[in-house]
Amino acid sequence: AIDVVDLHKYFGDNEVLTGIDFHVDNGEVVCVIGPSGSGKSTLLRCVNLLEVPTKGKIFVEGQEITDPDADVDKLRSRIGMVFQQFNLFPHMTALRNLTIAQEKVAGRKKDEAIEIARRNLEKVGLADRESAYPAHLSGGQQQRIAIARALSMEPDMMLFDEPTSALDPELVGDVLAVMKDLAAEGMTMMVVTHEMGFAREVGDKLVFMDGGVIVEEGEPSAVLADPQHERTQSFLSKVL
Ligand code: ATP
Ligand code: MG
Repeated sequence: AIDVVDLHKYFGDNEVLTGIDFHVDNGEVVCVIGPSGSGKSTLLRCVNLLEVPTKGKIFVEGQEITDPDADVDKLRSRIGMVFQQFNLFPHMTALRNLTIAQEKVAGRKKDEAIEIARRNLEKVGLADRESAYPAHLSGGQQQRIAIARALSMEPDMMLFDEPTSALDPELVGDVLAVMKDLAAEGMTMMVVTHEMGFAREVGDKLVFMDGGVIVEEGEPSAVLADPQHERTQSFLSKVL
């Protein structure tokens, strides 16, 4: 579970998150939507401590990760992150992309790392591409490799920041299908996305952010069909 309590984030004088509170249960899929610049990525990056919150607290499984004495590397290893740009190592095969952090960060033996990597390549439907280099894979395949790489660290939860936004439309479905499977297996997930169909079908909760705050949240089909706030209505009228 993730608990965020009164989270604020400044970049210089610019207050980008202005008091965020929310809770993600274990096994829950929370989708986050909102206009460009509303703070969605910053929120996700704070949860993974890629950004240091200016004020407020974040708890993962009841443990405060914003505590200055927290073991940041250990906590971060429990949270997998997938970005819009896949960020694979271009000079490494798919398999090596999945084993390197397992060996160097998690300290696993090579054989064990390969076994876990192959299991996750299978899971994303790319068992037959383990020897391929990223340049020889489609964007959708690269993103599925990036998901498999994050899963190979065996995280408790996964954060996705617009995982399909850089993809050609015909490649989006394969990536969403992998994420849907993951949700069905009970993975705890936070997903920033413009894919309203995914949010409606897979999301347990939909969060609408604007101007650094959560304006509205609720059951996805309810929020999409009957938004309560003018700002949500205005945003949805542009994207739906
Ligand atoms: P998008 O939909 O375009 O991805 P977003 O909702 O993810 O937008 P953020 O990337 O979180 O928005 O950015 C929120 C605000 O914080 C923006 O005004 C942005 O310019 C600012 N910001 C983000 N990262 C930094 C940074 N490293 N330094 C300074 N300002 C930043
Ligand atoms: Mg963003």
